[in-house]
Amino acid sequence: MIRKRVVLDEKSIRVKFWLYFSGMALFILLLLWLLQIVFINSFYQSMKIRETKNIGETITKEFGNENFEDSILTYSFEKSVGIQIYNDSGSLIFPLNPLDYFYQPIIQIKDFNKYFQPLIEQNLQDITYVEPFKESESSSILYVSYLGEQAGEKYFLAVSANVDPVESTVEILKNQLIIVSAISIILAFILSYFLSSRLAAPLTNMAKTARQLGRGNYDVKFQTGDYTEITDLANTLNYATGELTKTIEVRKDLIANVSHDLKTPLTVIKSYGEMIRDISGDNKELRNQHIQTILEESDYLTSFVNDLLDLSKIESELEDLHLEEFSLEELTKEVMHRFDYLRKEQGYEFPIFVQGKNDIVADKNKIRQVIYNFISNGVNYSKDKKRIEVHIEEKENWIEYSVKDFGIGIAEDKVKQIWDRYYRVRDNYERQVVGTGLGLYICQNILTLHKFDFGVESKINEGSRFYFRIPK
Ligand code: ADP
Repeated sequence: MIRKRVVLDEKSIRVKFWLYFSGMALFILLLLWLLQIVFINSFYQSMKIRETKNIGETITKEFGNENFEDSILTYSFEKSVGIQIYNDSGSLIFPLNPLDYFYQPIIQIKDFNKYFQPLIEQNLQDITYVEPFKESESSSILYVSYLGEQAGEKYFLAVSANVDPVESTVEILKNQLIIVSAISIILAFILSYFLSSRLAAPLTNMAKTARQLGRGNYDVKFQTGDYTEITDLANTLNYATGELTKTIEVRKDLIANVSHDLKTPLTVIKSYGEMIRDISGDNKELRNQHIQTILEESDYLTSFVNDLLDLSKIESELEDLHLEEFSLEELTKEVMHRFDYLRKEQGYEFPIFVQGKNDIVADKNKIRQVIYNFISNGVNYSKDKKRIEVHIEEKENWIEYSVKDFGIGIAEDKVKQIWDRYYRVRDNYERQVVGTGLGLYICQNILTLHKFDFGVESKINEGSRFYFRIPK
């Protein structure tokens, strides 16, 4: 029987959180332990030394004051210190009344020399001694100082304090610390569990949503959360989903458009073929008419397929620019030949206005494509205003090439999107205006590749002006 082992995933947020929290709790406990248990004695001792010294210094300063004796008594009361005053022959001057012995003097008369001699010999103001008691482990602090001279006699001060043993306190602290440690670890565990769950939940949620997306459900929405980063991530993913959905929609549309745009000319070609076979066969005039239609439809099919091919070529970015110098005017005239039948048969006008120099260095074939696309769009979207103007103008910093029509124009909110791949303004979608929504996308690619500035100015029902600028 195979038993499933519970594996602790050390990369999961939950485990990481728990580790960090426990680590932090342990660190704080260690710090507490060091301070409260290991170093407590030396802490306590140095604190006591400082305190005793302070008292000694204050009393020394007060020597000679009227109520000097009272203030000494107050100090020994309040601060639990023993205070004695000696003269230079080592006799105890204060306290003389045994009732004043709140604290046993720690210096015996015989020790006077031991403690005060260094003070006298080295002419020091004060000395602080830390001496262990003989019997017990605790130590006592002795502060001695020279008070001053009065009536020809020198006086000395001794302040003593006990450093009480802290073992019992340490014992209490140790027990407390054990309890605190246990509580901290449990708390760290609970807290990390809850926090990590709260943090991990939106992420787990997102993973679930992403899996749905992967399965092809594009209606998903990534939930934003309580955290800025998670909200950012969710927004980004929602944006990406939106873009993905758009692309997929657009592909669907394209397939629909392409099938439609391929099927219609094919149907026309087929039916005209049948008409020639069955009806116009011997009627030369009618036959030629039918053949002409077939040729036109084939032309359309060719250009349509070319568009698709151009697109895939440009998209794969395999093509480099083949730069050469040429005249924009000449190139425009050459492109115009392709619209001759419109001029002759349908009364279109294609005036060209040239001002200044129009020779540029660029990839001629690609620029030809841009010009062709601009002009044929002008034709396609000009309805009955059959005039498309080309302006080539030399400006200070660039040569501007523009194609102007007086047709349907483009709504302001659509102007940006027309350069998108497969984008077509919906209301334009009529059979007589065939298109793939690829033309401007291809133009955009070509002009960007050249690093030429380009754009469009347009007003609905007044016409559009598409331009690009060649820097000098
Ligand atoms: P299409 O093959 O549809 O013409 P394009 O990429 O060339 O594709 O153009 C995209 C869309 O921009 C067109 O479908 C049309 O709606 C709009 N458009 C382009 N040129 C013009 C114009 N001169 N006047 C009005 N609308 C235009």
